[in-house]
Formats: sequence, C-alpha cells, structure tokens
Amino acid sequence: MSNLGYITDEKWGLKEESFNSKWLRKYESIMSQGNGYFGLRASTEEAYVSEKRGMFLAGLFNKFDDNEVSELVNLPDMIEVHININGETLDLNKGQTKNYQRELDLKTGELLRVFEWIYKELHVKFEFKRIVSFDLKHILAQQIRIENLGQQSFELEIISGINGQITNTGTQHLSEGPKQMIEGKVLQMTSETTSSQQTLVQSTVHQFDKNGEAYDPKARVEMERRKIQNKYWMALAATEYLTIEKISAVHSTRDFDSVGVRSIHERALADLKEASALGYEKLKNQSIEAWNNKVWNNTPITIKSVDPLDQLAVIFAQYHMHVMTPGHDSRMNIGAKGLSGEGYKGHTFWDTEIFLLPYFTFSHPEIARSLIEYRHNSIEGARQKAKKNGYEGAQYPWESAWITDGETTPDFIGTDIVTGKPMKVLTGYDEIHITGDVAYGLKQYIDVTNDKQLLSDFGFEIIVETAIFWSSRLEWNNTLNRYEINDVIGPDEYTEHANNNAYTNYIAFWNMQLALKVIENIESYDEQVIQKIEALYDLKRLRDDFTSKLSKIFLQQPNSAGIIPQDDDFFEKEVIDITKYKKAENVGTIFHDYNMSQVSDLQVLKQADVMLLIYLFENEFSNDIKMDNFHYYETITTHDSSLSLSTHSSLAADLDEMKLSYELFKKATEIDMGQQMSSSDEGIHAASLGGIWQTVVYGYGGVRNLEGTLRIEPKLPDNWEQLQFSIYWQGCKLTISVTNDGFEVINHDANKEIQYLHNGEYFTV
Ligand code: BGC
Repeated sequence: MSNLGYITDEKWGLKEESFNSKWLRKYESIMSQGNGYFGLRASTEEAYVSEKRGMFLAGLFNKFDDNEVSELVNLPDMIEVHININGETLDLNKGQTKNYQRELDLKTGELLRVFEWIYKELHVKFEFKRIVSFDLKHILAQQIRIENLGQQSFELEIISGINGQITNTGTQHLSEGPKQMIEGKVLQMTSETTSSQQTLVQSTVHQFDKNGEAYDPKARVEMERRKIQNKYWMALAATEYLTIEKISAVHSTRDFDSVGVRSIHERALADLKEASALGYEKLKNQSIEAWNNKVWNNTPITIKSVDPLDQLAVIFAQYHMHVMTPGHDSRMNIGAKGLSGEGYKGHTFWDTEIFLLPYFTFSHPEIARSLIEYRHNSIEGARQKAKKNGYEGAQYPWESAWITDGETTPDFIGTDIVTGKPMKVLTGYDEIHITGDVAYGLKQYIDVTNDKQLLSDFGFEIIVETAIFWSSRLEWNNTLNRYEINDVIGPDEYTEHANNNAYTNYIAFWNMQLALKVIENIESYDEQVIQKIEALYDLKRLRDDFTSKLSKIFLQQPNSAGIIPQDDDFFEKEVIDITKYKKAENVGTIFHDYNMSQVSDLQVLKQADVMLLIYLFENEFSNDIKMDNFHYYETITTHDSSLSLSTHSSLAADLDEMKLSYELFKKATEIDMGQQMSSSDEGIHAASLGGIWQTVVYGYGGVRNLEGTLRIEPKLPDNWEQLQFSIYWQGCKLTISVTNDGFEVINHDANKEIQYLHNGEYFTV
C-alpha cells in the first residue's frame, strides 16, 4: 500500500502519510520545488541510502567527455542538515515516528514535514519547512524547528553547509573551486563545470533562535573535499526548542543579471544578505504573493467535479509547469523531466512545442515567446545537423541542451533483451518530425497571440529554414511519381525505419506550405526586414521549389476501412495481444519479451501517432475517419509514453466519447500523481502535465485555435458540474465558464471585441 495522499480541502496539495524510505524518490520528484531558474528535489534534510538528491540550474549543462552527451548538472546539495542528538543521528528508519506528516502545498509552494521521533531516551519534535522563492529567483529558504519533548536535557549537534560530493549518477561535472567563510557566518563554495566552463557560486547562512530569542550557538567551520559546512553544538533542556533558518543562494555565470556587477561572488553575497535579513516568513510571503500574481490569480482553473482529484490534477500540472520553465531566459527551454530529476539529462524534445507550449501560449504568452526564441537561438545547431546529414536548411535536434550543443541524443539506452548489449537509440538520427513540430508550435503562438512581430524578429527564419530542410529531405520516387520521406521514426517510437510515416509526411507538407505563405506575405514586413530577408534567401527560388514539390508530396490516405496507415508497411505487420503490456504497472514491459527490432515488426504503438495527426489537424479529417482510426489505433497502443494518454483523452472528447475520454484523463493524471511508487523516480513527466491542461481546456473547454479563429465548443465529463478557466486570445483575457446547461465567455478588455466560433456560427464578445 502506498503512502501517498491528497489534500483537497481549502489547501491543494500532496501528502505523504507515513515515512517509508523505499519511496523517497517518488516524493523527491512529485514534491519538487522551483522557480524556472532552478529546481530542487524534495529530498529530506537527513540523508538516506535510497534517496536521489538533486538540484538543477536551468541552462547549466556540461559534457563530461566524448563518450557522453551534454547534460544538466546535478548541483552541490544545499539542503542537507545532519542532526545528532546525544550522539545519535536522526534517522527515521530507527526508533519510532509519531504524528508524521509531509505536505507540499501547491498554491504556496511550501514543503512541510512534521513528526515526533522517539528513540532510546529521546523524544523530539521536528518541523521542517522549505521554499524556493518564486519572487527572488536565486533564493532558497529552510526553517527547522527542534523541540525537546523528553524529560531530560540533550546535547544537540547540527552539521550543515554545501555538499559537492553529488554527481549525476556517477559523473562529476564540476571542478572544485575555492571554499570560504565570509564575515564569520556565510559559507560559500565555487565550482566550475569541466567543459562548458561556467562558474557556479553557492552561498548559505544559518540563523538561530532558542525559545523564541536570537541565539548564537558554538560553531566551527569544517572543510572537506568538495564540502564546506558549519558544525554547531548546544544543549536543549526539556521543553526547550530551537529554530534554525538556513537561507541559501545560487548564482552562475549563465545569469544575465550578474552582468554589470563587479563579481559574481559579490552579487551572490549581496543577494544572500538581503534575503537572510528578511528571514523565512517574509521570504515565504513574498513568494506566495508572486505565485498568486503570476499564476493563481492570473489564469486560474476551477473544476467542480464529484472527484476533487480532477481539480488537484490541474493545479499540480500548473504548479509544475511554472516550477520547471525557465521563462526568464530564451537561451533555455523545458527539459522532459523539467528541473525535477536527472531523467533525459535535462534535454528538450518536441514535448515543448506539442505538449507544453499550448499552456504558455494561451496563459503566459511572454513565456511562450521565450521558449520559441530558444529555437531561434539554437538554429545554428539545427543548420549544422542538416549539413552533417547532407541536407539544407535547419534540421532541429531530436534532443537539445545548451543552444550551441546541437544534437544531444545519446547513442545507447537500456538493454537489448536478445543480444544482451546496450540498446541502440536511433531517434537522434531518424525522428525528424521535430523540425515540423517546432514550426507548428510557432505558428500556433502567432495565431493565438497575434504577435506578428515575432515573424519579422526571427519566426520567418525558423519557418523558412525548416521548410528548406524538408524540401531537401524529400526523396523522389520515379516509379510512383511522388515525393516520399523514408527511413524515419514517427511519434510512435516502437516503429523504426518507417517509410512515409503519415505524421511526418504531413507535418513536412504543412511546414512547406506555411513557408510558402509567409514568403508570399513578405510585403507586409518593414522595408528593413525585407531587405535583411532578401539578403539571406533567394525567395523566388524557394517559392518555385516549394510550389513544385508540395503537390507531389505523398500523404497517406485512409484505406477502404477508413484507417490511415501509420506508414507504408504498417498493416503488413503482425498483430499481437498487448493486453498484458497495457495493464502492466510499469511502462516498456514489452521489452522484457522482444527487442526493439522485433517490436518494430509488430503493429504495436508506444504512443499516439496517426491520432496526433488527427488531433493537430482536426479540420483535415471527417468525424467518421477520426472515430474509426481512434478505435483501431487505441487498441494497439501500449501508452508506454506519458505523452500518449492525454492526446487520446482530448481526442475522445472531440469525438464526444466522454466516458472514454474521462477514463483516459484519469489515467493521465495518475502518471505522476498516482499510486505507482517508482515511475516518477527520475523526475516528473513534463509533457504529460501540459497534456492534462490540454484535455481540460482543449478537450472539455472545447477551445481550439483554428488557423487564427478561436473555436469554443465545451463539453463536460459526467462527473463535472462546472469548469471555469481564463485564457489570453490575441491580447485579451477571456474567462470561460462552462456548466452542463451552457457556457459564458467574459472578455476582460472593455476596448476590444473578440470573435469566436461555436457550432459553425460566429459570436462576438
Ligand atoms: C517519448 C518521446 C518523448 C520523450 C521525452 C519518450 O519516451 O516516446 O515522444 O519526446 O520520451 O519525453
């Protein structure tokens, strides 16, 4: 039985109802905190063997050696605090724990842990609180209260500081730099990434009070290899209590805001002093205010459902999407596990454009813009990738890290059950649809925000160069007189070496068509911009090239049963019964029976593929086609990717299959928030959280951008009485309230009219 509980009355959050060191990693991920600048796993202050500590600074990547790819560095730990009482180390695997409670309040972002520890003659009450400031992005604050509930006085020893003996599962990305104690109390440690050559400065300070009064315990600074800490000791008599505030700061040479300051160390010290002068409570309150202003009061989503976990799931999704997203710096993007773990090495995938960007585009357009600009900032790597593969234009990496890193997909992962060797990963070579996905995300943003400026700033370049890539990637089939795209991996990664994957060909076609449109519309730009563009590209040649090829690109068509083939050979493959894999508690269990090349020869899908095509291009397919394909493909999909369920759920809602949609929605919400206690060990599933928002707002709210037209066609699952949410449409904030009797749209901008489409009719608010 798992010990995960939910808080759904007044407060919204997650709780751990009893201590079990077996499941620490799950909580470290799902209760992780952050502010987009850095993320922190919810490790406990005292250390355990089964833990996986982690703190990640967005954009701080390093490549250890030529055999490894660039990865997000796991930083020296700042939250660890060793507590020894009468020589006994606090350890909840020993003695008895009473009144245990651990909670993450998703609205305030505060992590709380309270318990009594009874061991030998000791009876001690502990309270640990922690926030990552949502207001001061460099700051992390902890408060620890220790109360002697026993009969006798005890000797208390506290050892706390900065511990750089942390690695990325064995790989040490940091060289040890200077460690120092400043002004008798601030501990500071400097490290340098071994190859990206970035300086990291971490600083921390401790403040004490005893029985409510400021207190200065005996202390000694200790330095070890990659470690600086203070040791404090004191006696605590019966009924006495001690409060420690540990305020910490993290800075790096990646920061823009360190520029202009004499040294990063000075900046770090100044920030830390300012924060520690405020103290835990004030820092917390400021942070809560920032959460409220930026998120909860800005674009709230309320769901009245029979099951309060539906509301909790969407709050959980919004919370984590903000914790993980470095909206402050367009040289950074969202990792597949956010900033919550080492999984996927902090890399960015198509997850951003197809799964996460919609939330930001509709709710925080400025963050969406920054995420899109990242693709422009990293376009050189995309150009190089195209060139290396013998193509032109920009071919976006399947996995990306720092903007100059280019392709960062590792070559091997997991074990091949047949050969007993590491499994070769082909996605970095063959999963090319991401190039079209980048253009797709960008176009959605422009339609929804009407930020045409982005096109002339850098969007034009992305759209045209991705189209140039596709044009050079097309293969002419002389026999069939058509352009094809062969030997790819589509969204369904269980099919390798696919020819004419329906999704890939379609997105390539659409991308080239879009490029043609933006080229034809070039007159609408400023003269200067036109000159710049004309200096870069031969527009006439491009227009002719795209026009002549577009009509000959092969697009898969429904067969006589109405099913769109996933690729040329898909229907020739063997169909097996996948019930056992669908039902398995863990994902990927099909690899216990088959290796990748065997799976590739089966009609088994990892995730939505043709389904995604239908979902993203809804106007291109009739309802009958959608329905037939849904039932055909869902049956043979294992949903082994966390990206799959939400797509199916939203699509089922589009098809009025509300019961099925809701079942799939529930499963999607359980990916991280559910009772499976190991699936989130490596970090939360970022894209799946974006998918939850999509099911709520797109699926049930019925909102969709149809090429610049807002469509609203809400429908609620049976369990829901009401759904209310806010979105931004072309600069105006709208609030949409849906009940089973109808819906209402409020336009918060008195000076602007908004039109929307509902059941084929236009309405104005
Ligand atoms: C999925 C990909 C996804 C990646 C990162 C894989 O398991 O198949 O579609 O981009 O995870 O989330």
